[in-house]
Amino acid sequence: MTARPHYSESLTRLEIDLGAVVHNHAFLKGKLAGGAACSAVVKADGYGLGAVPVAGALLAAGCDEFFVATFAEGAEIRAALGPGPRIYVLHGPNGATAKDFTALGLVPVLNSLADIAYWGGAAKDAKNPAILHIDTGMNRLGLPRPDVARVTEDMLAPLDMLCVMSHMACPDTPAHPMNRMQLEAFKAAVAALGGKYRYSLANSAGILLGPEWHFDLARPGCGIYGINPLSNASNPMKPVVTLSGRILQVRDIAEKGTVGYGATYDISPPAKTAVLSVGYADGYFRSLTGRGAVFIGGVKCAVVGRVSMDSIVIDVTALGRTPVPGDWAEIIGPHQTADDVAAEAGTIGYEVLTSLGQRFERTYKRAT
Ligand SMILES: *Cc1c(COP(=O)(O)O)cnc(C)c1O
Repeated sequence: MTARPHYSESLTRLEIDLGAVVHNHAFLKGKLAGGAACSAVVKADGYGLGAVPVAGALLAAGCDEFFVATFAEGAEIRAALGPGPRIYVLHGPNGATAKDFTALGLVPVLNSLADIAYWGGAAKDAKNPAILHIDTGMNRLGLPRPDVARVTEDMLAPLDMLCVMSHMACPDTPAHPMNRMQLEAFKAAVAALGGKYRYSLANSAGILLGPEWHFDLARPGCGIYGINPLSNASNPMKPVVTLSGRILQVRDIAEKGTVGYGATYDISPPAKTAVLSVGYADGYFRSLTGRGAVFIGGVKCAVVGRVSMDSIVIDVTALGRTPVPGDWAEIIGPHQTADDVAAEAGTIGYEVLTSLGQRFERTYKRAT
C-alpha cells in the first residue's frame, strides 16, 4: 500500500484571516463619532491570534495606536512595528525599568497615585509620556474617585499626559444601568480635569453603545478578532478564525463498549467514530465533554466521551459515508464560531481564542 499523501502534513490547522481583522477594525472605526481615533488592543498575543501579524496588518491599514497588557508584549510588537506607532501598556510601568520603557517608547497606563508618583519621579530630561486610568465603577484597575481628587498639578507636571481613560464593566449589555453611570462618572472626571486631555472610554462594545461613549480614542479588542462584542444580539463582526483538524483514525464499533477516559460514554453497534488530534492542551476545553461537536462536510458530529489532552473522539455515524483518515473536520468555522464553542464550554469567545494552543499549523491570510 502507498502512504496517504497527507501523512507528511500537519493534522490541525489554524487559519487567521488578517483581511477580516482589518475589515473589523475599519467597521468599528467607521462607527466612531467625528474625530475620535481608533486604537487596537493586541494584548495576550493579539487575543491568541498573533500580536505581531495582527498589529502589522492594522499598522499597514493606518492604525497607529496599540494597547498591550505588559511590558514584554509591548517590547515584542515594538520590535516588529518599528518606532512609529504609539504602544500603551495597560498594567503600568511594571516589569522593566523606566529606562527600558523610555528606550522602547512604551507608554505606561498609570493605575494609581503610586504609579503617578513613580513615573513622574522617573522623568529626567523631558516629560514622561503616560496615560492616566481612572476607575468609574469597575473596581479593577485605575484611580478610584477619592484618589482622582488627590491628583495635583504638581504631580502631573513631570508627565506628558497623552490620554485619560476609563474602562467599562457592562457595555456588552446595552440596557445595563452601569453604562450610563460610568459615562456620567467619566464626564464628571473630564470636567474636573478641565477637559484638556484626550479621553478614552469605549472598548468594542462601548463603541456600539453610541457616540456619547466615544470621546477621543476608542480601544477595541474582541470585535477586531471577530468575537461578538454584544451578549444578546447578532454578531456584526466578520469571522477571523478557522480551526480544522484531520481525522487521525476511524473505527467501526463492532461490539458494545465505552469511549474514552472514565468509560463515561456507552456505545454499541452500529456506530462509527473518528479521532481528531485536538484536545484540552490545544484549548479545546475539557468542559466540552458531552457538549461539543465538529462539522464534516457540513454535518454535525458530536464529541463522544471525555475530551483528552491531545484528542477527541467524534461520532461520525450520521455522515452517511465512512470518512477516512486525513479527512478534514471543522472545529471553528462557518458552522460554529468561537463564540458558539465558548457557549457550549460555559465560557466566552475571548477565552476560547486566548486558549488556542501552540500545536496548530498557523496560516495567515494576508490583508489585501
Ligand atoms: C481588554 C481591554 C480592552 C478591549 O476590550 P474588548 O472587550 O476586547 O473590546 C479595552 N480596554 C481595556 C482597559 C482592556 O483591558
